[in-house]
Amino acid sequence: MGGVEGVASYLESIEEGKEVNAFLDLNPRALEEARLAEGKLAGLAIAVKSNISVKGLRAACASFTLENYVAGYDATVVERIRKEGGVVVGMTNMDEFACGSSGETSAFGPTQNPAAPGRIPGGSSSGSAAAVAASLCDAALGSDTGGSIRNPASHCGIVGIKPTYGLVPRYGLIDLAMSLDQIGPMARDVHTAALLLEVIAGPNPKECTTLKVEPPEYSRLLSRKIDGCRIGYAREFEEFTDPRITSVIKKSLDRLERMGAEVVPVTLPNLGKGLSTYYLTVFVEFFSATRKFDGRRYGRKIEEVCGREVLRRILLGRYISQKEYSGKYYKKALQFRSLIKRELLGALEGVDVIAGPTVPKLPHRLGESMDPMAMYGYDVLTVPTNLAGIPAGVIKAGEVDGIPVGLQVQGEPLGEQKILNVLYALEDGGC
Ligand code: GLN
Repeated sequence: MGGVEGVASYLESIEEGKEVNAFLDLNPRALEEARLAEGKLAGLAIAVKSNISVKGLRAACASFTLENYVAGYDATVVERIRKEGGVVVGMTNMDEFACGSSGETSAFGPTQNPAAPGRIPGGSSSGSAAAVAASLCDAALGSDTGGSIRNPASHCGIVGIKPTYGLVPRYGLIDLAMSLDQIGPMARDVHTAALLLEVIAGPNPKECTTLKVEPPEYSRLLSRKIDGCRIGYAREFEEFTDPRITSVIKKSLDRLERMGAEVVPVTLPNLGKGLSTYYLTVFVEFFSATRKFDGRRYGRKIEEVCGREVLRRILLGRYISQKEYSGKYYKKALQFRSLIKRELLGALEGVDVIAGPTVPKLPHRLGESMDPMAMYGYDVLTVPTNLAGIPAGVIKAGEVDGIPVGLQVQGEPLGEQKILNVLYALEDGGC
């Protein structure tokens, strides 16, 4: 729909769909902004994860720490969306400070999965995924440090893209782990995700970590022709994955073959080492990122009000940082990170993309108790992408007992177009 009517109707649906608990704050000026909107995204309603700054709206990161923190400026991605006429409708719920894979660590209550009622929507970009899946907006921004765009996209049956590290500016994103975090688009279809990606991507002179490359117009270049495309598949995925999920993924691969792609085996022997490498890195970087939340400049002192998962990471991060002189943990993590990166880039050398499952298990029921290690286990297939800094996209591949299952497609650095084309080919329901 788009335009003023589109935004108005989304605002109504948000009001009616309150029990989904997808939004933490709404933009009171959304309709006014929609009236003036011009550009590529003119009048499209965009939901923004609560860890991305939008001037005048609360960037609470779903934490009591920043409960009343109102951003004083727009993140670069938000500036770019507004310049192209996109309308921010509100800020979405998430795991507290993006720490989690289920959406349940939010201080403001969990989000429902509109595609699988009674189950977690996945996380940490839980509200963004649910808002897209429940048609409460046209598209959303999420952030992905170890899978937080792809995991909820898979569980909610939508499209999510984690861009190459440095392709999308991080200015205005509240860090979980700055060497891994990337902002990316979530949408119901590939074209909208591609469009949003081309708007937010590109160098930012204010940031030393953005790449100095102008992104192509992904949406215009979308093509379903995947004739001759070489798609790698690693047997190692199956060691971690529920066989029912594997069988849905294999059906997608068969479809791609029928469309002319060639599925070839690749090996990723160190796939299972990603988790410990990732979590060690995140604990240390998160500990350092949270030192500014000491109650003096922003909100409250984090240790006094945060939830258990955030506190666990701060305490472990502090411990590991103190032990760093001995090079026992963090240095090892960095070494493993190089190994995992080399392995993935090596596997990608002989193929165009690598395709496989996104999350190894089906989403659990809301409220079901889960120990931290089992929760971390959800991330085993998504964290290597971030450790290697490469891009990946997710699209619904099928269902198991009515629950969506997403196919994850990873590519070489700056290989977003190839990934989008494979997702696009699967989207039209052909073959
Ligand atoms: N689930 C992972 C974690 O808890 C990833 C989070 C993310 O990507 N923000 O760290």
